[in-house]
Amino acid sequence: MADSAQLFDRILNSQEPIVIFGAGIVGDALAKLCAVAGVKVASICDNNINKVGKKIADIEIIHVTSMKSAYPKALLLISTADIMDVVAQLKGLGYENWLAAGPLLRSFDLNSVEFDAPFEFVDFAVSTCVMCHDGYLDPDKIFLRSVDVIITERCSLRCQDCSNLMQYYETPKDCDINEVNLAIEGLCEVVDDINEFRIIGGEPFLNKNMWQVCNALAKQPKVRKVIIYTNGAIVPKGENLACLKDDKILVLVTDYGPLTRKTATVIEIFKANGIAHYVQPAQNWTQCSNLVKHNRTVKEQTAVFTRCCAKNLFTLSAGKFFRCPFIANADRLGATPDIKSDYVQILDIDCDSKEIRKRLRNYLYSVPYLEACDYCNGRFLDDPTVTPGIQVKKPLPYKLLRQE
Ligand code: SF4
Ligand code: SF4
Repeated sequence: MADSAQLFDRILNSQEPIVIFGAGIVGDALAKLCAVAGVKVASICDNNINKVGKKIADIEIIHVTSMKSAYPKALLLISTADIMDVVAQLKGLGYENWLAAGPLLRSFDLNSVEFDAPFEFVDFAVSTCVMCHDGYLDPDKIFLRSVDVIITERCSLRCQDCSNLMQYYETPKDCDINEVNLAIEGLCEVVDDINEFRIIGGEPFLNKNMWQVCNALAKQPKVRKVIIYTNGAIVPKGENLACLKDDKILVLVTDYGPLTRKTATVIEIFKANGIAHYVQPAQNWTQCSNLVKHNRTVKEQTAVFTRCCAKNLFTLSAGKFFRCPFIANADRLGATPDIKSDYVQILDIDCDSKEIRKRLRNYLYSVPYLEACDYCNGRFLDDPTVTPGIQVKKPLPYKLLRQE
């Protein structure tokens, strides 16, 4: 692997314009690093149309579809964590000249420049990118940026457009925590590092044994950060509260406004107990939860999967590893056929860990689409948003294809 001085030599001597791919927080850090190093960046390119026309560090953001006309040739510096998808996308556009920003950013002193976002947030995003790029550049490693683990199907709300498909469960139940922890252990055994584990439901605090998952993840050396996603409607108590005090844990509270009257109390309790938390409004929802069979061709399926921004929201559910929460919950609901190639069975007693690691690698890096994508609208960055948190009185109907 080239060191950062060699990489900067290549950038500074480039005959082609320099374009940063990814207009997120890491793209911002990279633009600042380039300025410090005397590298002139022509543009920042992104897949998200909503960012186009804005600026980062005084550099204009352009949409990926404008790349070819604006820069028929360019040296692209990739700043997104999901580098594999971007490399494939660039290749499709005819660009072979790219560099992963991770090795460049590794030794950048983020304190030496100013950011609008909180420092911890920038630091976490940049170190995630560095680790993801290290994992990508080393073919022997399996590094996962983020894994959701489902610990309950129960929720205190029933949102019409819940992307985790809670609105379809007729008789939602809690997951068996011992099985959840066994699956976590099994997954950690076959990967090298997991940047963050996200404990999700439904509403995780409705499972009174949530703390056991929390503690197991906090102790797991391969897991860097644990995030609990709550809707702020349930006040955690006893061990479910005590477990949140670990340094590795962050609670992310989505504020649903008048739908959840206890949010202020929950936040007060977190403050009083020194629990790291972050509150964000429910926003940027899209209509991505319809369970409808589309009967797409292979070409159409590949196109949907390629464009889908949820395909790396890896999800652990019932001992199986899935690409996204949609397919994990569709599987739990019996709304899709049981297609073995759509997931990796982590707790497969007929397989040793070497074989599971091999299957996981293949699932992560070589799958062109999932059969179950045909039951999904897909999630695209330019989808129109819908009003978040609209409630439905009864579970929504869907076609049951199988029962466990
Ligand atoms: S609160 Fe969250 S998990 Fe619960 S139904 Fe709404 S979107 Fe889904
Ligand atoms: S299109 Fe496929 S990868 Fe994307 S959310 Fe739907 S099922 Fe998941």
